[in-house]
Amino acid sequence: MIYMDHAATAPVRKEVLEAMEPYFTKYFGNPSTFYTVGREAKKAMEESREKVAELIGANPEEIIFTTGGTQSDNIAIKGIVLKNKNKGNHIITSQIEHPAVIETCKYLEKNGFEVTYLPVYEEGIIKIEDLKEAITDKTILITIMHVNNEIGTIQPIAEIGKIAKENKIKFHTDAVQSVGKIPVDVNELNVDLLSMSGHKIYGPKGIGALYIRKRTRLEPILHGGGQEKDLNPGTENVSGIVGLGKACEIAKEELEYNQKYLTKLRDMLIEGILSNIEESYLNGDLINKVPGTANFHFVGIEGEGLVLLLDGKGIAASTGSACSSKKLEASHVLKAIGLEDVDSHGSLRLTLGSENTEEEVTKVIQATEEAVKRLRSMSSIWNQRENKRKEDINNKCTSCSLE
Ligand code: PLP
Repeated sequence: MIYMDHAATAPVRKEVLEAMEPYFTKYFGNPSTFYTVGREAKKAMEESREKVAELIGANPEEIIFTTGGTQSDNIAIKGIVLKNKNKGNHIITSQIEHPAVIETCKYLEKNGFEVTYLPVYEEGIIKIEDLKEAITDKTILITIMHVNNEIGTIQPIAEIGKIAKENKIKFHTDAVQSVGKIPVDVNELNVDLLSMSGHKIYGPKGIGALYIRKRTRLEPILHGGGQEKDLNPGTENVSGIVGLGKACEIAKEELEYNQKYLTKLRDMLIEGILSNIEESYLNGDLINKVPGTANFHFVGIEGEGLVLLLDGKGIAASTGSACSSKKLEASHVLKAIGLEDVDSHGSLRLTLGSENTEEEVTKVIQATEEAVKRLRSMSSIWNQRENKRKEDINNKCTSCSLE
């Protein structure tokens, strides 16, 4: 199998699995207990907190463990707006956030909050002037993702954070697709809150973290036994936490190399697809993009058909984000960058990981070319376009010979 859907999830690294194993068997204790197996679990948890903090330039006390990106986003967004609802009711976000943020904002809209969804234009990036214009004296939170999960574009987080600070507005970023892939430093980025997830960085699923800057107060949205600063109560997923810590440690060690390597593979992939397949286009900005992500659209085909044909050749790819690819509606991200529904349905997302090779990229380019050709041979939209093109050429030739 050639796996090229790392934005959906990544395989757990062998070293991660090995680090986790003792916390299922030998040190299975509840970390809130005081005997040896509990204490060992607690110690491992705190070591992991340090590793997570180190990857993003934070202090360990500023990290809480969660069940993943979705829970981190919910705890951060709802926690801030509920805590600050006496100061205002306005939230600013972007049109291309992950459902974990968009749906949370929609829920809050139904409960008396107002939300501005900033446009991202053809490049998939917000404009700072739009952000400045959107701020009112009722704005209590800005939540804008660092890297988009579908098209990979990078938002100007440090600049947004500076504006948020100047206006005394709390700033959260969903960094699920950037942590471990590009440098992330909470101080350089000027963020108050940052969400991350284990399974996007070769860690296990169902574990993540939320960075909460010192002195940032959140209203708890979950209630229970007080674990994780009372923000994520419940017995901790110790083995998952150990796995997340190990994944962060490896990500930090390999970040520089992987960034270069994945940029090279991604550019090879983009060049190969665009030059070999006519009427193929790259979605979103080419430059301001995370190393491993490439999202294309091919005129005259259905992305679902393409994904199935590629799967038949042992290639795992995606039409949009995994979470929303169940829905048949056009992707809200591709819509936001101006794609017509018909083009959006012909999209393919390929996201690379460190275990992919140049040979695999070559195979994927070839397989995509063949699959697109096959789908187009059966596509009425494509055939109509081809007939029209031939007709236009004929008409041109006839008028030429008349001159
Ligand atoms: N935010 C972004 C940008 C994502 O890509 C994802 C997962 O695809 C999430 C949040 C949700 O993360 P999790 O699956 O850990 O809940």
